[in-house]
Amino acid sequence: MTTALYSHADSYAHVTPPGHPERVERLEAIAAALSDDRFSALDRREAPMADPAELLRCHPEGYVARIKAAIPAEGSRALDADTHVSPGSWTAALRAVGAISAAVDAVLDDEIANAFCATRPPGHHAEAEKSMGFCLFGNAAIAAKRALDQHGLSRVAVVDFDVHHGNGTQDLLWDEARTLFVGSHQIPLWPGTGDRDETGAHGNVMNLPLSPGTGGPGFRKAWETHGLPALDTFSPELIVISAGFDAHEDDPLAQLALQEKDFVWITEALCDLADAHAKGRVISTLEGGYDLNALAASAAAHVEVLMKRGR
Ligand SMILES: [Zn+2]
Repeated sequence: MTTALYSHADSYAHVTPPGHPERVERLEAIAAALSDDRFSALDRREAPMADPAELLRCHPEGYVARIKAAIPAEGSRALDADTHVSPGSWTAALRAVGAISAAVDAVLDDEIANAFCATRPPGHHAEAEKSMGFCLFGNAAIAAKRALDQHGLSRVAVVDFDVHHGNGTQDLLWDEARTLFVGSHQIPLWPGTGDRDETGAHGNVMNLPLSPGTGGPGFRKAWETHGLPALDTFSPELIVISAGFDAHEDDPLAQLALQEKDFVWITEALCDLADAHAKGRVISTLEGGYDLNALAASAAAHVEVLMKRGR
């Protein structure tokens, strides 16, 4: 079976103000990297539009309506200091949720081995009733809920190695005992949450805070000592990855010092766990990553592992 790449032109119509780090060029850089010959075997699929009802798996109807009503007819509107919407943002957000929802269906229907969703806006900071950190809806958490409630799985892991704490995913899955959310991130750093003592209503959240300056060895040690054993014990039937690449040493928004090889390492480790427990089923969605060269190289390295493991 193959690795699918979900993308859509609508993802480029979510436009942020000049100088904003979460910009259209990020997807252009990833698309250029994945146009290389070594990615010719990717199963390239158009991200469908999610039915807005899909958002209700994690967000109240009033919140969804509020976001839709905030979309401007022209220009840009700030939902907060970091999070902006443009006329194309609603459709882009539905493509992001649609991509990961379609990936869940295709992987669980045994059509494909695994998938990467190259979409935006990202999702892991969106709480149940609060957009923040460039995020509108909780793409990864919605995918986990879909796998549980629509496909009848019993255990889904969500893994987040973005440099920022996935406070939104944590909020959305806090009381969901059928999920284990494990994330590594820099502390101190925005959004300020993600301490070890935040463990979920059922012990179903694990945070792995890393000090500024931590490089590959410290990152790997945290996962080898805590994150991977917890995932192994949980024995997930599907692994959803919030793939942020802003823990890279070149990223301008944070101070961790990972390299492409560290993203390869964690991707391989998660594929190993998926092979052991989940029939190899891994779905990955783009979160952060703001140095275009580091982002493109890291995402490409991540997808290359998925392809190698999907065969
Ligand atoms: Zn981030």
